[in-house]
Amino acid sequence: MERCENSIGEQEKRVVKFIRGRTRVVHNVSSDLRVTLRCGPCGAIRLSIFRLNLISHINFWELTPSSSSSWIWKKLCKLRLIGRHFLVCDVGSGETASFWHDNWTRLGPLIHVTGNNGPLTVGMPLTDVVRDALRGRSWWIASSRSRNPIIALLRSSVLDPESMIDCMHDDVYLWKADHHAPSNMFSAAKTWPALHPNGVPFPWHKSVWFKDRVPKHAFICWVVAWNRLHTRDRLRSWGLNTPSVCVLCYVVDETHNHLFFQCHFSGEVWRFCTLRAGLTPPSQFMASLLWLKSASTFKNLSLIIKLLFQASVYLIWRGRNLRIHSNNFRNPPQIIKEIQLLVRARLDPLSRLQSSGPL
Ligand SMILES: [Zn+2]
Repeated sequence: MERCENSIGEQEKRVVKFIRGRTRVVHNVSSDLRVTLRCGPCGAIRLSIFRLNLISHINFWELTPSSSSSWIWKKLCKLRLIGRHFLVCDVGSGETASFWHDNWTRLGPLIHVTGNNGPLTVGMPLTDVVRDALRGRSWWIASSRSRNPIIALLRSSVLDPESMIDCMHDDVYLWKADHHAPSNMFSAAKTWPALHPNGVPFPWHKSVWFKDRVPKHAFICWVVAWNRLHTRDRLRSWGLNTPSVCVLCYVVDETHNHLFFQCHFSGEVWRFCTLRAGLTPPSQFMASLLWLKSASTFKNLSLIIKLLFQASVYLIWRGRNLRIHSNNFRNPPQIIKEIQLLVRARLDPLSRLQSSGPL
């Protein structure tokens, strides 16, 4: 650690090597951007190098990295816009937290609420820490008689200063992701959904991404659901000089809807898969996808139908590609046989896991 503080270049290199070499790294961002690296039996090592050498006396939220700064430092500065939303400050003695920049009130960073005129209006410089706002045992703005709306807003939002006045411990910076309680541990699992909120699920979602699916079959099915396969009608719409006719039947132009399952070739495959179960699925791909959700009330049969459907889509598309690129012509019975083999291979380990009998 002592050697680490000798030069900026050396420190940054060591930090990067340290991070790469450990399997469990927990980042805890504090006011001086100390980075806590916890590495199993090695315990916790705190590095204040960023503050010492990279930030100096400039507020972290305001500084602009120089053009000669390292890549990792510039990257970290860019991430401030995203990370700031998650950082909250639990004020202890108030000697570290920035009055204007840190998120220590229910309003968030006060500079965002008041704008750049805030410090001038309130009479507190941008560099003030929270404790600087005390006069005796109360906030100085509490005694202000100003009717300025900014001062009135701050007066109503600041905390009770009593707990801070005699406090001996430092301010603590916590990570708060959405509705989760603030924590001194960074959680990727909680942060990811906060950054990427789930959209409204599509009605066919569970017909594609169901438990026990075959991943590559589900993926192709998902691509078809979005009409994103490179079918001949799409290639031609992009200006490519390619034949338009379906290579499975050589009768109708190739489109998503034709391939799945209006083509008599693919229709024969899909119908055979459901015939034995006495089911009559729709002939359109999307209608079939929605139909799968309620195709059977029996859990095992429902799973089998979904697996058959996805295997059919996968192998029909594969059969079409083999015809075009390898001159390999397979007829519907050959594809049906392959579907049966694939689905059996998927069901065998599942049936062994089931304690309530075979599928
Ligand atoms: Zn066709």
